Amino acid sequence: MKTPETGQKQRLYPDVGAVNRNGQKASRGYDSALQAGKNTGENMIREEITLKEAAEQIRRICGAEAVLEEEAMSIHTTFRIGGPATVFVIPPDEEKLRDVLILCRSKKLPCTVMGNGSNLLVSDEGYRGIVVQVSRNMNEIRTEGELIHAQAGAMLSAIARRAMEESLTGMEPESGIPGTLGGALSMNAGAYGGEMKDITLSVRVLTPEGEIRELDGEQMQFAYRTSIVQKENLVVLSAVLKLKKGDAEQIRARMEELRQKRTLKQPLDLPSAGSTFKRPQGYFAAALIDEAGLRGCRVGGAMVSEKHCGFLVNADHATAADVRDLMEHVKTEVLSTSGVELEPEVRMLGFD
Ligand SMILES: Cc1cc2nc3c(=O)[nH]c(=O)nc-3n(C[C@H](O)[C@H](O)[C@H](O)COP(=O)(O)OP(=O)(O)OC[C@H]3O[C@@H](n4cnc5c(N)ncnc54)[C@H](O)[C@@H]3O)c2cc1C
Repeated sequence: MKTPETGQKQRLYPDVGAVNRNGQKASRGYDSALQAGKNTGENMIREEITLKEAAEQIRRICGAEAVLEEEAMSIHTTFRIGGPATVFVIPPDEEKLRDVLILCRSKKLPCTVMGNGSNLLVSDEGYRGIVVQVSRNMNEIRTEGELIHAQAGAMLSAIARRAMEESLTGMEPESGIPGTLGGALSMNAGAYGGEMKDITLSVRVLTPEGEIRELDGEQMQFAYRTSIVQKENLVVLSAVLKLKKGDAEQIRARMEELRQKRTLKQPLDLPSAGSTFKRPQGYFAAALIDEAGLRGCRVGGAMVSEKHCGFLVNADHATAADVRDLMEHVKTEVLSTSGVELEPEVRMLGFD
């Protein structure tokens, strides 16, 4: 299956490449790490040993409590789907995060960064590599006049709440998106006519070389559901958002109005990763899927939501294969009925 990583240049992090634990097809970067080109049984054993050694080294960097092995990704994704990550790290702070990523790079280990897992589909086989979660330990939020300084792991909802408390307007559209600031900047997340691009003044990132750089809004190259973070394999550390003085009561009312709209329109009672497909230029994915007669269509436990056709949901113990197969079916049907090619918005991890 074609994944968002397919065809991209070799990456060291956050997405070294899709690595399947079955290992029939080693990813870029992984191959070069082993200088093998093929994944023989012997190579796989060596890989596992290297990852185990890396887990030990990461424990020395971050502390034992920050490192988990064979951690089920289904616990860490809103889809509630995904096999184990060989090593799962929750760095306590920026410095340790940087050290972990530098270690992965120097050892050419597959490594990926995630936030709240609200836009991720992880394969049933999981991810043979190191998953670094940037969330609960890096979530400081500070205001300075009309500016909000926040760390990458801060949830958008928490930043929006702080904005409201400080009578700052501008974050209302993003207030209900269930992700971290880092994930939102990577995705240029947006809703109800607003997107991160509109409110981002600057972003501190870590480059694949381990350097810290500060990018302004233009340098972030925001576009529809993407940014330079994805293109250049950067890791978001923190950002400054620029809002405007407003009226706290009006801000609260607008956030509440949008929250109700979401509850009314979206299948929030079932696990999902939000809109599965990007909005094709000039169309709405949900309408195209509905017109193709796919409302309620199922593959295994995965289903096109009855409530909102743009959402593929985990209706009943769906596997990642169920979701992927349903995505393929939806793409094929929509192409044949409307001639429009749907592109996934959800990021795939651990697929061949
Ligand atoms: C019910 C529901 C509703 C949703 N509604 C919306 C919506 O209205 N609009 C919208 O745009 N999205 C929506 N989404 C999708 C999702 O919430 C957003 O894409 C969100 O920005 C992802 O943030 P995250 O922290 O969960 O990122 P993750 O899912 O963990 O990761 C997503 C991508 O960001 C990268 N990433 C995460 N953190 C970092 C970091 N610190 N540095 C570099 N890269 C990083 C990951 O590598 C991955 O490629 C919805 C999802 C759900 C479940």
